[in-house]
Amino acid sequence: MRSLEIGKESRFRRLVLRDGSFTSYQIHFRLDSTFRVSVGKLGNCVFPPGKYVYTGSARRNMKSRILRHLSNRKVLHWHIDYLLKSPRARVSKVVLSGMEECRLNRLTDGRVVVRQFGATDCKAGCGSHLKFIGEKKTNRRQTKGNKHPVRIS
Ligand SMILES: [Zn+2]
Repeated sequence: MRSLEIGKESRFRRLVLRDGSFTSYQIHFRLDSTFRVSVGKLGNCVFPPGKYVYTGSARRNMKSRILRHLSNRKVLHWHIDYLLKSPRARVSKVVLSGMEECRLNRLTDGRVVVRQFGATDCKAGCGSHLKFIGEKKTNRRQTKGNKHPVRIS
């Protein structure tokens, strides 16, 4: 499986990515406190504090998709936008992969806290494309401060 772990956002901006070199991506982030938000048609959702992994796909324009996810300035479109737009969500790393989105998601440990999150188009029965990893006491230093830049963990 091809995969690429993205380091600092500035380095990622300089990276040349051909369409098709990666098909899916995972965004690792954490919430420091319980987050309640109304997410489109899903309605009111409650996200416990801890680490999360969101799995998405982009067959084209991967780079702009990732940069959009990392930006606070955007129109809310995808479910994940409601989380990542908040300063309370701190991205720790982004990993690009050549694996099919749903397969990658299923291979990721974690539990579903909001059913159908990011999975309205999913035909593989994932249940959710957002996995809750839980709380870990380590790596505290990595998650302090602003959510930018993206860091290698
Ligand atoms: Zn799926």
